[in-house]
Amino acid sequence: MPTFKIAIVGAGPAGYFAAQALQNLADDNRVFEIDMIERLPTPWGLVRSGVAPDHPKIKTVSKVFEKIASQETFRLFANVEIGSDVSVAQLQEKYDAVIIATGSSLGKTLGIPGENLRGSLSAATFVPWYNSHPDFVGVDTPLDSNTAVVIGAGNVAMDVARMLALEPSELDPTDTADHAIDAFKQSNIRKVYVSARRGPEHAAFTSPELRELPKLEHTNVVINKADIEAAIVRAGDSPEKDVKSNLDAMLLIAENPKSEHERTMEFLFQHTPKEILGTDRVEGVVYSTPDGDVTIKCGLVITAIGYQAHGIEGVPYENGKVVNSDGRVKDNLYVVGWAKRGPSGVIGTNKSDAAAVIELLVEDLKKPKNAGDVSEILTHQVVVSQEHWQKINEAEVAAGEAKGKPRVKSVDRAELLKHAGL
Ligand code: NAP
Repeated sequence: MPTFKIAIVGAGPAGYFAAQALQNLADDNRVFEIDMIERLPTPWGLVRSGVAPDHPKIKTVSKVFEKIASQETFRLFANVEIGSDVSVAQLQEKYDAVIIATGSSLGKTLGIPGENLRGSLSAATFVPWYNSHPDFVGVDTPLDSNTAVVIGAGNVAMDVARMLALEPSELDPTDTADHAIDAFKQSNIRKVYVSARRGPEHAAFTSPELRELPKLEHTNVVINKADIEAAIVRAGDSPEKDVKSNLDAMLLIAENPKSEHERTMEFLFQHTPKEILGTDRVEGVVYSTPDGDVTIKCGLVITAIGYQAHGIEGVPYENGKVVNSDGRVKDNLYVVGWAKRGPSGVIGTNKSDAAAVIELLVEDLKKPKNAGDVSEILTHQVVVSQEHWQKINEAEVAAGEAKGKPRVKSVDRAELLKHAGL
């Protein structure tokens, strides 16, 4: 029976859903042997280091990933870096097809003065910091001022704002990094602004995220009612379903102002950032608004305005994405997920996206190459296999059990390898 070898680069949602789509297309006439290659010693990508720790339900998709990984034809090669340990060209030579699923890990920048001051960070740095990503443990996150500003009106901005505005003890039963929980407990931040450059009718939040805000037990959530009423008028009689749902959710918040809590999250609309003020560190943000320039004093600015893909040698990039046509890149190279379409959609979006690409990939396959696999190249590399990862997983879950958390993630590569028995 023809056996095709497929390499998937990146062990995040898009990579797993690509593997699943291949598994679904395997039948009595063809087998797909899948090797998933991951830079970190741990898989799951954004489900591990992106999803907000106070959203544990979203992370249950990891069970699906583990089921995919449990198939006989699946192997994990984690702790392997494309570029230094193995090149895309080498993979293309060995495998019948190579799928890039490396996401978009770089935060977009505003390009305004002051963006490089201490206290001005991208969500692409701040989020992995509180999620125990080994490369972000030492990030300087000054939380000593009273006010933080989060720039952007998408779900990442919302996650970041919530993490800053929550009563930190609410994070105790989550898998938030211990270093971040400690920092949040010592934080002086009591006011968090979320600023959107356009009106509420254009906000990129999704309504379930807005609807959970009134349930925050220790945080006032403030939206100016006049802003929403004006947006409802602008949206007209038949707004799109998502816009209507968002505006309804925001109106509900605006109509039920709370002020009893010490911590407040406030939304600002039609605020376009112009400059970040400060000499040695952030002191404020100047916005241009319909009423003229407005300055918000703050000591922390987190920019959550979207992401772009990190380049990999041998893969063509343009506008923050891999150059592709419906997922086909060139020769036997393919791309799925955020690296393909840009940073949009929820985790589940990657399932249909990957399935469509895999359909084309399988159409393109002719005869198996039988040219070996990545293990022949990685002869000196400490590779974390699926079995090793399972040991890490068990150790983390066991450490969490003792503390009433779903897991305690190791933040140190050496410790992760030790858990793996390597
Ligand atoms: P996003 O949804 O695209 O939102 C980006 C926001 O940044 C938009 O409001 C955009 O405003 C704003 N922006 C862009 N450039 C700007 C600039 N120069 N100045 C000021 N604002 C600017 O991106 P995201 O929040 O990074 O999320 C990425 C994807 O992950 C989304 O599909 C999101 O839904 C998903 N996600 C989902 C969840 C969840 O399900 N809970 C959690 C996190 C992320 P304009 O519209 O004006 O451009």
